[in-house]
Amino acid sequence: MLHIRNYINGGFHNPNGDQWIDNVNPATGDVYSLIARSTETDVDLAVQAAQQAFPAWRDMGHKKRSEILMAVSKGIAKHLPDLALAESNDQGKPLWLSTQVDIPRAVDNMSFFATEILHTSTDTYQTDNHTLNYTLRTPIGVVGCISPWNLPLYLFTWKIAPALAAGNCVVAKPSELTPMTAFLFAQICIDAGIPPGVLNILHGYGAECGAAIVAHPDVKAISFTGGTVTGKHIATVAAPMFKKLSLELGGKNATLVFKGVDIAHTARHVARAAFTNQGEICLCGSRILIEQDIYDEFKAELLKETQRFVVGDPLLESTRTGALVNKAHLDKVLGYVELAKEEGGTVLTGGKTVEIGGRCASGFFMSPTLIEGLPANCRVNQEEVFGPVATLMPFTTEAEALQIANSTQYGLAASVWTQNLSQAHRVAQNLETGIVWVNSWLVRDLRTPFGGVKASGVGREGGTEALRFFTEVKNICIQI
Ligand code: NDP
Repeated sequence: MLHIRNYINGGFHNPNGDQWIDNVNPATGDVYSLIARSTETDVDLAVQAAQQAFPAWRDMGHKKRSEILMAVSKGIAKHLPDLALAESNDQGKPLWLSTQVDIPRAVDNMSFFATEILHTSTDTYQTDNHTLNYTLRTPIGVVGCISPWNLPLYLFTWKIAPALAAGNCVVAKPSELTPMTAFLFAQICIDAGIPPGVLNILHGYGAECGAAIVAHPDVKAISFTGGTVTGKHIATVAAPMFKKLSLELGGKNATLVFKGVDIAHTARHVARAAFTNQGEICLCGSRILIEQDIYDEFKAELLKETQRFVVGDPLLESTRTGALVNKAHLDKVLGYVELAKEEGGTVLTGGKTVEIGGRCASGFFMSPTLIEGLPANCRVNQEEVFGPVATLMPFTTEAEALQIANSTQYGLAASVWTQNLSQAHRVAQNLETGIVWVNSWLVRDLRTPFGGVKASGVGREGGTEALRFFTEVKNICIQI
């Protein structure tokens, strides 16, 4: 069976304790590879390698670093079909989705930051005729990048690319639920000429390997994407060590639908926002707020669109909903459906496991689910479900819609559907989130700041924000 080994100092290594974790394909339930169970000792080796590699990588200059990272981008593009298949097998997502979205985005992440560093500048301030200040931005050193299972290579490279481009060396850990594309990516980095030690990829459990990266005194910054509870824990360890911290955490995003919209068009996109990738995207709109005047008409159209999210084998072109990432997660999501019933909700469609049969007979599938009749403050409307479950809530005024939308601890993203331009601006400004889409969802320009407020995180990724995070700034004041 294939062993997913650690990539340290330019080569592949078994974990120090020779312990391995089963890697399960969620669509079939089969164990199809073994994952290195890394510990503090492996993390130590990786950090040492990164420290040794740092001076040469830092001093290599932007142009050469850019060329190497472009070669990585091209390597991902060259292996797109293999990577897309690996992502689908590991995560359960439809193959067409990883082919059209996940892996192309990993290609773009690498090329975006490879070229971004060729065009950056820093500030100067002339205090008077005799004094000049200028700011320098220098790489931090060894940084840790920890990413989740829902968009594996997409989010892994979204952190690694700016960290490396800025001149840092990286110790990275993908989720142990979806390590395969990170493993294949290591070979692509070797082929592209990334020098040994510049990037190190460790596999294993978050609480062991991830925690050891966070706590390592020589890892100077942590970029983490994952759940809010894990983020909070990481902050308690890293903050007293004065590490730089970027936390991209959970969401409970609202979709606000106002009267006057094209019902059929909007329902199609609202369903896409709720159920893409089995609803396992931090940006999914899981609370759908609908203006009372159009509630019944919109609900009927949304039901039709939801039922079009055919559940099936992720490898089939016709499948729109693949498998949930593992059995424990499926049970958790189904548990929220039961809780919704206890809280007074009515399941309009879905809410059950789906038997696929054939090679997927033991997979973890459930049907996209719409629930109505729940109060805004109940647990199902307050906690992140992170699966194919969305709730419908009516509102009568814009103020009420905003009040409901802002009533959770989270503040990642929202999408607003309206034909009224003033309303679009007003609502967007008053939503307590880091990202607002108007008449769209998940349209991404990699230059824009990305991240959440409240319990959805601290800091921003994307464009110059990411390069700022991965550099230290120094002001130099010169008396002329
Ligand atoms: P987790 O918080 O469980 O895990 C995220 C990563 O952290 C994994 O690699 C995990 O390893 C690791 N980890 C777990 N515990 C620790 C620890 N104590 N110290 C260091 N690392 C640790 O999140 P999920 O993987 O379950 O991802 C889903 C969550 O991610 C959702 O809440 C979702 O909203 C959020 N997310 C946020 C995004 C954003 O941009 N804001 C984007 C995508 C997802 P392992 O899995 O191996 O245990």
